[in-house]
Amino acid sequence: MQKALMDIIRQSDINQIKATTQSSPRLNSVPDNTRVITPVSHQIPAASTPPSLPPLPPSTSVPPVGSPPINPPIKLTLRRNPPSTSMSQSPEKEEKKPTKSDDWDDYCFVCSNGCDEISGDLVCCETCPKVYHNVCHIPMINGDVKDLPDDWRCTRCKNVQPITEPSEQFTEREKMVCARVLLACYEKVRGDPAQHSEPFHNPVPRSLKRYYDVITNPICFKDISKKISTLRYQNIQQFIDDMNLVFKNACAFNRKGTPIELSCRIVFDFYSHAVKELLRPYHSKIWLYQNSPKI
Ligand SMILES: [Zn+2]
Ligand SMILES: [Zn+2]
Repeated sequence: MQKALMDIIRQSDINQIKATTQSSPRLNSVPDNTRVITPVSHQIPAASTPPSLPPLPPSTSVPPVGSPPINPPIKLTLRRNPPSTSMSQSPEKEEKKPTKSDDWDDYCFVCSNGCDEISGDLVCCETCPKVYHNVCHIPMINGDVKDLPDDWRCTRCKNVQPITEPSEQFTEREKMVCARVLLACYEKVRGDPAQHSEPFHNPVPRSLKRYYDVITNPICFKDISKKISTLRYQNIQQFIDDMNLVFKNACAFNRKGTPIELSCRIVFDFYSHAVKELLRPYHSKIWLYQNSPKI
C-alpha cells in the first residue's frame, strides 16, 4: 500500500517535472525583477504532497522517515551541486548570487515542495539561490510574496548580529537570530540530497498512538517557527528549550542507529553549530546528545 502510494507519487512528480520543463515556464515571464515563481498551469493532485511521516521505530512496516524526501527525486538543484564523493557534515557553501532565473532553486528550501496551486508561490532571495513559500520562511511572511520588495533577502542572508550576552527578552532582534538558528536545521549535508530535518518538520499524526504513549510533550519545527514568528517566546531560553525537546523526543522514540536517529544527529550538528555561532551564551544549554538514556 505504502509502496504503491510512493510509486504513484513518484510518477506524479516525474510527470510534473516533464510538464513543467516542456511546456510551462517556471518563472514569471513578465517583469524579471519580481522573481516570484508562480504556480504551474496544471494542478498537482493532493496525493503528491509529500506525506509527513512520523518518527517510527525500526519494527514498523512504514518506510523509514530518515530516507530522502519523496517529493524531489530529481532535484534540479543537482545541476549546480552534483553529488561529491566526499561527504562532510557542513551545509552547502558554494552559493553565488543568482543573476538569471535558472540560478534559483526549484523547490522550497524548507518544505521541498515546488510552486503549485496548493503550496502557492515561491519567493526568491536576492542574494542566494534559495526560494520559499511565505508560510515556510522563518519568520513567516505575512501576505503575498508578490508584494515583497525586489531586494528581499531571506533570513539566511540577512545581516544578523549574534547574541553575545544572555537575553531576557524576545524582541525583533532575538526573533531574527532564533529564526536563523532554526533555518540552519533545514540545511543539507554537502553532496547528500536528503533533507535530514524532514521527520521533524511537522507534527506526528495523532493517529499514531504508540508515539503519543511515549512522547508526552510533542513539538516540531513548524510549531517553533510559528512561535518565533508571532513572538510567543519570552526569552531565548524558551526557544532553546523547545529545540532541545525536538531532539530529546526523537531519541526517546527512535533507537540508536535507525535512519531517523542518524538524521537527528545530523540536524543536531547544524543546530549546535548555529547556536555556537549566533547564541554563544546558550551553547552550554543545548541538549547534550550523550545524555540520552538510549545512547
Ligand atoms: Zn515551502
Ligand atoms: Zn538568501
